[in-house]
Amino acid sequence: MTEPLKVLILAAEVVPFAKTGHLADVIGSLPKALKKLGVDVRVAMPRYGRIDPDRFGLETVLEPFEVPMDQHREPVSVRRATIGEDVPIYFVDNARYLGREGIYGYPDDGERFVLFCRGAVEMLKHLDWAPDVIHCHDWHTAIIPQWLKTLYRDDPFFVPTATVYTIHNLAYQGIFGTRILEIAGIDEYHFRVPQIRDLENVVDLMAQGILFADVVSTVSKTYAQEILTPEYGEKLDLLLRDRQDRLFGILNGIDTEVLNPMTDPHIAAPFSKEHLGARLENKLDLQRVARLQPDPNVPLMGAISRLTDQKGFDLIAQIVDAIVNLDLQFVILGTGEQRYHELLSDMARRYPQRLSVFLTFNAELAQKIYAGTDMFLMPSRFEPCGLGQMIAMRYGSVPIVRRTGGLADTVQDFDPRTDTGTGFVFTRYNAYDLFAAIVRAVETFKYPDKWRGLQQRGMAEDHSWDASARQYVELYRQAQAFKRL
Ligand code: ADP
Repeated sequence: MTEPLKVLILAAEVVPFAKTGHLADVIGSLPKALKKLGVDVRVAMPRYGRIDPDRFGLETVLEPFEVPMDQHREPVSVRRATIGEDVPIYFVDNARYLGREGIYGYPDDGERFVLFCRGAVEMLKHLDWAPDVIHCHDWHTAIIPQWLKTLYRDDPFFVPTATVYTIHNLAYQGIFGTRILEIAGIDEYHFRVPQIRDLENVVDLMAQGILFADVVSTVSKTYAQEILTPEYGEKLDLLLRDRQDRLFGILNGIDTEVLNPMTDPHIAAPFSKEHLGARLENKLDLQRVARLQPDPNVPLMGAISRLTDQKGFDLIAQIVDAIVNLDLQFVILGTGEQRYHELLSDMARRYPQRLSVFLTFNAELAQKIYAGTDMFLMPSRFEPCGLGQMIAMRYGSVPIVRRTGGLADTVQDFDPRTDTGTGFVFTRYNAYDLFAAIVRAVETFKYPDKWRGLQQRGMAEDHSWDASARQYVELYRQAQAFKRL
């Protein structure tokens, strides 16, 4: 029998232990799908102060050992739990840097994540478990591919280990002063600066990951193409074009066991695509929760989002008067930049009958919105993959999206002549085109048969992890082949 492929996945956030965005959802579910395919997959993340060892049943597997950090050595220990039934997850523990309550937002975040990475790499030797592939995600773990090509290049333990680096969002690159190199133990001789003027006097960890990984990936095929252009490349497009032969796109999946309208404990009534009538109870429940007039016939639109420039709320703000004049109701759930909080609060005050705004993070309310709205708005300026539109489709809420990144790859525009498509798609980033898409949705909603078809086609799409996990296994094999070149 051949040995199973051994893969270590590293990330800064993992559901259910710590989450700020989709990265945590991805790392909480991809390993389960890989395990089903026979991969010996394990995960590592920092043990933040907020992760209660008792609540999650963490057990100590490595007593404190020292790792190099800057000019000194720092003690780390390792605890262990599982994701799902049987995927081991290791927590790198260090009181001084990692034991703080929050995940991000400290002035020494660069040092904190360098220490996490060093602890995780050294942990492998203490466990005597040499992975075939180390799979790093986003800038927090981007130093590792560089280490394997420099610090650890001649270390026999890591001879077989290839690296994969996945970009979840190019907008967050982890840019620090050059001191971070000393902290990470990399001499200037080994440090490579991409030919980008803005990066001459800084260290961009995302760029280092892209430069040194055996394979680079991102979370949709369209985003993988878009980031090669100056418009989407966030100043790294030149570098990405250089590494184009190593760059791949694999769509994120969603956890279809947890996100299931038949069993979801947070929604008022279970339903399926065969029993869509039962869905109405969820709409009425949401209208009550959102203090909007309960009414089956008025179209109810929802949005759940981080409130940042990325997500298209500037477009929504430009046409909010026109939107509410369409005779629809609109529920928004989100947190983010202060100016969007003010803008949305102001809009909700002006249109209390039409608009309901929740400026919080609330996972239960999110499920009620997916299950209760007729349509789901995601007019993103850019969207590496996007989970919201996939969850909405699974719950029978018809997405209205901009044709970009993962939105372009997962939503097909409705064609009334052929009764095909799963949503309403617009292309150019401007308020007119967004408004036209909303009008098309509201008009189509008046034809219940057509609308039911849209919902059922969306609910029939398979966005589970299975297909994507198979593509990751292929990618790991590819990384091994590149490493041997
Ligand atoms: P991103 O990761 O860029 O923020 P995604 O659409 O890929 O956007 O994933 C966001 C995830 O976080 C979705 O599962 C969405 O339901 C959830 N989410 C976003 N904002 C909130 C909120 N305020 N309350 C609850 N869930 C939220």
